[in-house]
Amino acid sequence: MNTLAIDIGGTKFSIAVFEDDRMVERATRATDREGGRDWMLAQIRAIAGQWRERRRLDRCGIGFGGPVNFPDQRVALSTHVGGWQDFPLVEWVREELGLPAVMDNDANVGALGEAVYGAGAGFDPLFYMTLSTGIGGGIIIGGEIYRGADSYAGEIGHLTVRPDGPQCLCGAYGCLERMCAGIWMEPDHGRPAHELMKDPEFVRRYVVDLALGLKACIMLLNPARIVIGGGISKAGDALFVPLRAELRRQITAWSRARIDVVPAALGDDSVLYGALALARKA
Ligand SMILES: [Zn+2]
Repeated sequence: MNTLAIDIGGTKFSIAVFEDDRMVERATRATDREGGRDWMLAQIRAIAGQWRERRRLDRCGIGFGGPVNFPDQRVALSTHVGGWQDFPLVEWVREELGLPAVMDNDANVGALGEAVYGAGAGFDPLFYMTLSTGIGGGIIIGGEIYRGADSYAGEIGHLTVRPDGPQCLCGAYGCLERMCAGIWMEPDHGRPAHELMKDPEFVRRYVVDLALGLKACIMLLNPARIVIGGGISKAGDALFVPLRAELRRQITAWSRARIDVVPAALGDDSVLYGALALARKA
C-alpha cells in the first residue's frame, strides 16, 4: 500500500511517499508567501504527478499548519499563508489527484507520528509540542488523537503565560507562542533562534516561559511523556536540560507527576510519519 504524505507548514511544505512503513520519496520546498495557496497546490500536483510515473499511489494523509475542522475535513484558516480560509483540501486531493485523503492539523498529526513511529512509542498518554515558527500541541490518549468537542484541543500555543506581555498574532497578550515561538525570537531578541539557543544566559530565561506552558499540560494531563519537535527543539541538551530543571522547580511541590520531556525522534519528518499513520487509521 503506497501512501502520499503531505506536511503543510508556515515556512515550508514537505511531501513524501511511503511504501507500507518505508519512506521512498521525499521533497521539501520553502513556502512562497506571494503565491499563497494556489502556488502550493500547483507544486503538490506537479511533484505527486512525477512520482506517479514511478509507482502507484493509493491514499493520502495530510498535516496542515493551522486549525482544521476535522469532522468536515476542511482547513479552518492559516495564520501564515493566505487563501486557505475554509478550504476543502481533502476534496481537492480527491478531485485533482484521485486519492482518498484524510487531514488534521499538523501538531495533531506530528503527535501521532511520534506516538506510532518515534520518541512517544510506548508512552500513553502522550503530549507533543511543536516549537517552530509557531507553537502547536497534540494529545494522544489510548493511541488516538484527542481532539476535544470542537477539534480545538491541544492549543498550548495560546495559553497566556505573561498577561502583561506583548500582543500575539491571535490578538491576545503574552501567549506562550508570542513569548517562545521562532517567528518572534529575532524581532524580540535581535538574533536568530539557533544563535540564541547557544547562549546559556538567554536559554535560562527562555525556559521559564516555556515551562509555564508545559506546566499547565503536566498538571492537566499528567502525560507519560512530552515530546517536543520543530526547529528550536534541535538545540538538544542546551535546551532540554535547563527546561527539565525549570519544570521541576515550577511543578506544584506535592505533585508526583513525572517530568519526562524529550526531543522528537523523527526530526523534520514527525508530521509526514503522522500523515502515514492517520491515513492507515482512516
Ligand atoms: Zn495567541
